[in-house]
Amino acid sequence: PPLYVQRYCEVQKILSDDKFKGKLRKVVEFGCSELSLFVYLKKMPSVEELLFVDIDRDILEGNKRKIEALSADYLHLRERPLNVFVYEGSIGSKDRRLVNTDAVIAIELIEHLYPETLSKVPEVIFGLMKPQVTIITTPNSDFNILFPNFSGSRHPDHKFEWSRSEFQTWCSQVTSRFPDYLVEFSGVGEGPPGSEHLGPCSQIGIFIKSSFVSGEDKAAPGVELEDVFQLVHEEH
Ligand code: SAM
Repeated sequence: PPLYVQRYCEVQKILSDDKFKGKLRKVVEFGCSELSLFVYLKKMPSVEELLFVDIDRDILEGNKRKIEALSADYLHLRERPLNVFVYEGSIGSKDRRLVNTDAVIAIELIEHLYPETLSKVPEVIFGLMKPQVTIITTPNSDFNILFPNFSGSRHPDHKFEWSRSEFQTWCSQVTSRFPDYLVEFSGVGEGPPGSEHLGPCSQIGIFIKSSFVSGEDKAAPGVELEDVFQLVHEEH
């Protein structure tokens, strides 16, 4: 399958791990773009709330029909209700509706962020949202020498492309700052035989909250926060 489909399948696989079974009720995807991940996430039986966030309102407006219920959904009714919200907003904003999230996904998003926005990401996800699991994917620049006529960047909008070591450094800085979390690495997109040392085309950081952390601070979460995001569409 194409690389983007491999990424969606890998995300679905990670979230379906036994250790999260029945625990992921609210899932937020940042940089959701065309809402393509929706069909994968709605299959998860534990999910009751899905939030999709992107700064590009036009893309969201153009794709929002993808979250409408299909007639097939009425034939295979879910055991739990599913509420879906599509918001125009930035991953750098602390919106009130982000609190009490169980899983966060950002597929090929961080390399599109300016340093100022990127620097806010750890606090938004791990300081405010405190999910069980966070999946972040980004291009692996070690792999770029395999592209013919490579021009320095895979996409003109990329603000950077990180080697495995650069990405791992950023992730370790995050887990040092938020010690409740451990990070694991994986990836998708194999190169040709003989290029194994370059790693996968897309690298993936999986942040998992340590289950040994006690004293969950669920007390009045988000009281001082505001609704920053603009609602584009919702489905119940
Ligand atoms: N996740 C998508 C997928 O798997 O198909 C692809 C993501 S696309 C390469 C990057 C997306 O990030 C774009 O839709 C862009 O509008 C969005 N984006 C850029 N800056 C953002 C920000 N600060 N907050 C949220 N989304 C942002």
